Amino acid sequence: MKCLLVAALLAGVAAMSQAATPVLVVHGGAGVIAREVTPQKEQAVRAGLARALEAGYAVLRTGGSSVEAVTRAVVVLEDDPNFNAGRGAVFNHDGRNELDAAIMDGATLRAGSIANVHKVKNPILLARAVMEKSPHVMLVGDGAEEFARTVGIELVDPKYFYTEERWQQWQQALRAEREKTAAPDKTPHHGTVGAVALDAQGRLAAATSTGGMTNKRYGRVGDSPIIGAGTYANAQCAVSATGWGEFYIRAAAAHDICARVEYRREPVAEAARDVVLELIPQLGGDGGVIALDAEGHFAMPFNTEGMYRGWVDRDGKVHIAIFAEK
Ligand code: ASP
Repeated sequence: MKCLLVAALLAGVAAMSQAATPVLVVHGGAGVIAREVTPQKEQAVRAGLARALEAGYAVLRTGGSSVEAVTRAVVVLEDDPNFNAGRGAVFNHDGRNELDAAIMDGATLRAGSIANVHKVKNPILLARAVMEKSPHVMLVGDGAEEFARTVGIELVDPKYFYTEERWQQWQQALRAEREKTAAPDKTPHHGTVGAVALDAQGRLAAATSTGGMTNKRYGRVGDSPIIGAGTYANAQCAVSATGWGEFYIRAAAAHDICARVEYRREPVAEAARDVVLELIPQLGGDGGVIALDAEGHFAMPFNTEGMYRGWVDRDGKVHIAIFAEK
C-alpha cells in the first residue's frame, strides 16, 4: 500500500514537472514572399512576433492559463498592421476586410469561432466570447457583430483595418485577374496569425485569426475559424494553421494532426510533417502549421518560401524565424 502511494506520488510529481515548463509558439502566416521581405519589413515582423511572445508568455510565467496566453499573443498580432489579421488584414473582392478567428481550449474541448465580420477590432476576443459566453461554437456576419455588441466587444469603423500595402496587393490581384495572369494553381495568400500554448498545469490551447486570402469572394470562409481545419486543441495536442484554407479544410488538417498524435501515438513533429508536407501538397495546397504536444514538444513545418514564427524555449528565451533554418 505504502509502495503504491509512493509510486502514485512520484507519478504525480513527474506529470507536474513535465507540465511545469510552459511553452508558447506563435506564427504570423506562411504567405511569406522572400522578395517582399525588405530589411525594414523583417525588423517590424520580428519585433511584432517578439511582442506577441512576451505578452503571451507573461501570462504563462505567472501561472495563467494557456487560453489566456494564446488570446493575448493573438491580440498583439491583430493590432500590428504587419500581419494579415485585425488591422492590416487583406481585402476581399468587394474591397472590404472580412475577418475570421477561432480559439479552442484543449483541456475542456470548448471552442469558439467567428467568421465574416467587418467591424470587430479584435476578432479573437469575439471568438473567445462565443466560447465562454454563448451556448454556440460559431457565429458569422451580422449575427456575430450583434453578439459582440451584447457582450461589450469593441467595434470600430471598418476603415480602421485599412493599410496601403494591403490595398496595393488587392489592386495587383485585381489586375492579374483582369489580365488573366494569375496562375490558377498559385492563388496568393497573405498570412494569418496564430498561437499554441501549454500552461504550467499542462493545459493546451490554440488560437488563430485572419483576414483570409486577398481578393476572396464575399462570404468566403477559410480554414482558420473552422474547428478541426485551421484550429484545434485537445488534451494532447494543439494546432494553428496558415495557408491555402480550402485545402486545410478538405484535409481537416488541425484535427488530423491531433488525431495522429492521439490514436497512432505519432510524435507531433511527424504528424505535422505528414499533413503539411505530404497530404496537403498532394491535394494541391500549401502553407504551414504550428503544433504542440502536452510534453512541450513542438513543430513548425511549412512548404512555402517562409513562415513568420517564434517560440519561447524552456529557459524563457525568445526565438524568431522566417525562412527555413539552415
Ligand atoms: N488560411 C488562411 C485562409 O485561407 C489564409 C492564410 O493563412 O494564408 O483564410
